[in-house]
Formats: sequence, structure tokens, C-alpha cells
Amino acid sequence: MKRRDELPFLIAGGGIGGLAAALALARKGFPVRVLEQSTEFREVGAGIQLGPNVFRVLDKLGLKEQVLADAWRPAAQEMRCALSGESVTRIPLGNAFFAKFGEPYAVTHRHDLHRAFLDAARESDLIYLEPGTRVVDFVEDSGLVEVALEGPDTSSRKTIKGRALIGCDGMWSLAREKIVGDGPPRVSGHIAYRAVLKRNEVPDDLWSPDVVLWAGPRTHFVHYPLRRGELYNLVAVFHSDRYVEGWNAEADASELWTHFKGQRPEVLRMLERIETWRMWVLCDREPIKEWSNGSVTLLGDAAHPMLQYLAQGACMATEDAYWLAEKVAAQSGDLPAAFRAYQEQRYLRTGRVQIMARVYGEFYHARGVTAELRNQMLGSRTPEDAYEGIAWLYGGM
Ligand SMILES: Cc1cc2nc3c(=O)[nH]c(=O)nc-3n(C[C@H](O)[C@H](O)[C@H](O)COP(=O)(O)OP(=O)(O)OC[C@H]3O[C@@H](n4cnc5c(N)ncnc54)[C@H](O)[C@@H]3O)c2cc1C
Repeated sequence: MKRRDELPFLIAGGGIGGLAAALALARKGFPVRVLEQSTEFREVGAGIQLGPNVFRVLDKLGLKEQVLADAWRPAAQEMRCALSGESVTRIPLGNAFFAKFGEPYAVTHRHDLHRAFLDAARESDLIYLEPGTRVVDFVEDSGLVEVALEGPDTSSRKTIKGRALIGCDGMWSLAREKIVGDGPPRVSGHIAYRAVLKRNEVPDDLWSPDVVLWAGPRTHFVHYPLRRGELYNLVAVFHSDRYVEGWNAEADASELWTHFKGQRPEVLRMLERIETWRMWVLCDREPIKEWSNGSVTLLGDAAHPMLQYLAQGACMATEDAYWLAEKVAAQSGDLPAAFRAYQEQRYLRTGRVQIMARVYGEFYHARGVTAELRNQMLGSRTPEDAYEGIAWLYGGM
């Protein structure tokens, strides 16, 4: 049933989480307004890995084929030692993987995933997209939420009302600050440098169809194809105490070279191809159990920011969106109860990913005996062992 005349759900943030939430709610017939501070809806360029768990949700939202059309299907995930060049472990992602999880593994450009959500949102007559609109404050009043907004010109302030507010405003969430109030995110001490090359900029002997991770002491380097193989994604991560807020700062290449010195020529030759790097200072938070208050709730990085070592932040945001809409549809007359049911559904799964992502990061960056042990443990696994080990994540949603 469409409820076009009802007050809308207000969504702060039009990233992957915000648009997924808008779409999931609209698919249940609810009107939505998406308030995005940037003057256009877009994602900064880089690759993103998509586990089978997110394809289960994309299928339900009717976007699976569209996302797969632009994605790349790697044949395997491989970890190589960045010092010796040896293959530590290789997990096939083909037929046996599909038979186990019923959905594929894919990698795609962040922009392409966001675009799939954006196109679907634009086609919906229940979703109203408002770029250049920053949420600066909100109050709950008689079961409604009144939200203060600022345009690009900060003097243009107005307030609007909605049935509820969903904070999809990312790592430095204003909504979280108001309803959870646990201060800034935890700085991990890890920095990610990223770049995207065209296929013809990658030497043939260095190009691989797989997701390849070079594990080094306190570093790792990942590369894989993007956009049907036309592009190549590179992410180099190392330990550093530097802190710059945001996701798109220009990076200092000399700092990168200090950390990757002495690694395999394949790693160094690939790193040399990059003229300009962009960087992320990686942050997360401790898992929490409650991220809703009355008619206000959180979703995606605002609710459970995680390190990227399990490649699941956007997948978790998309899963959240599905479950939020399910719980709202089941209890649309009592949104505070629906939001409590949603967080109850999600907090243990997302908390486990937050914690396990830290563990994987330690594993990737191991040195000395720890690295030897890692290689021994991972090297002795069969693909079936590897699938079983990650079934808690890829098998659910
Ligand atoms: C290096 C790296 C690699 C990653 N790799 C993967 C991967 O392979 N797979 C995966 O699933 N995830 C990955 N992630 C995680 C993923 O990118 C994030 O978890 C995901 O983008 C979070 O989406 P979100 O919509 O919750 O937040 P965001 O993408 O941060 O979106 C928040 C939006 O809210 C807007 N906003 C903020 N404040 C306001 C306000 N006050 N008013 C209005 N708008 C506001 C912002 O402009 C932004 O558009 C990776 C992350 C990093 C750093």
C-alpha cells in the first residue's frame, strides 16, 4: 500500500546506507525524504567488495542484476606474503563458493553501487532526494521529529517535520552524537591509500583477475579489477598515527614508501604506477546495543562503524536497510518499537563484524613469528574449511 500523503521518513545522509534505507522503505510503500549535505548525490571513487550476504538483500530490493552487470567476478581471493612472494592461501570464489552460499562474490566501483541505488530512488515516486541539505539539529515532539536544515549557504536555515529520522550520516554522525553521545570515533592508527587505474595502465604481468592481498609487516596491499575489468583498484594500508577527518584527502606518497620499503618487486612496481593517492584515516567504534531513541534511529556507519578488513561496511548498511524496512512494515503504528526491534535484530551481527574486522587487521599486518603462524594456519586450510570459517557472515543477512 502506498502512503504518499503521510508524513515522510527523514533520512540524514545519501550514501549507500541512506539510499538503501530510502529504497527499502519505499518498496514497503512509505514516503521518504533523503537529506544529503553534498550538493550532489555521489560516492568518492574506489572499489568495494560485495559478499554473498549483500546479494541476498540486493535481490530482494530488485537491484542484484543491475549491480552484477557493472561488477567484476573474481575467480579467487588470494593472500600472498609481501616479503617472500609465496601464496599463503587461495580461496576459490567460483562454483563451489556459489554452491555453498547461493550467491556470488563480486567487486565493484563504489560509484556503480551507489548509482544503482540512486537510479532506483529516482524512479520511485515515494522518494524525494534533497542534495545540498545538511541536517544540523533535530527534536522529537509529540511523536514527530522536527529537523533543522542548512543549505550550502549556511544562512538558509529551515525546519521540516517527519514521522521519524534515520541517521545514515556516516562515521562522524551528528545523529549519533545526539542520541548515543559517545564522542568521536576511535582512530585505529591505520591509514588506507587508494587509487584507481585504467586497465591499460597496469602491466600485464602484474594484472590479476583475483582479489589479491599482499600481507606485509604492519602493512597490506590489495588489488583487483573493477567495472567489468576496465579499471583496476589499489588500496595500500599501513600503520600511522596521522589523523585527518574525512574520506578524500590527498595523500603523501613518501610516507607510503617508508612503510613498503623492502617488499616484493611486484608490490613496489604496482605502487610506482600511482601518481596521486587519496587517503582515509581508518576509524571504528566499540559495538553498542542501543542506537535508537524514540522515533530516531541510526543505520550503517553511523550505528556500527567498522574497519574495512572484512570488506563489509557497505554490505552491513544494506542489510540494515532491509531489516529496518521489515520491522517498520510490521509495526508502522509504533515506530519506537519498530526501531527497537530493528536494532535487536542487528546489533550482534554488526558487532561481530566490528570485532572480527579488527582481528583480521591484526592477522593481515602480522610480523615475525605471528606472521609465520598465520601462514601455517591459513596455508593448511582447504577451500571448504575457509567457507565454513566465514559461513556466519556470508551465510546470513
Ligand atoms: C578503505 C575502505 C575500504 C572499504 N571497503 C569496503 C568493502 O570492500 N566492502 C564494504 O561493504 N564496505 C567497505 N568499506 C566500508 C564502506 O565504505 C562504508 O561502511 C559505507 O560506505 C558506509 O555507508 P554509510 O551510508 O553508512 O555512510 P557514508 O558512506 O559515510 O555516507 C554518509 C553520507 O551522509 C552524508 N552526511 C553526513 N553528515 C550529514 C548531515 N549532517 N546532513 C546530511 N548529510 C550528511 C555524507 O555526505 C554522506 O553522503 C570500506 C571502507 C574503507 C574506509
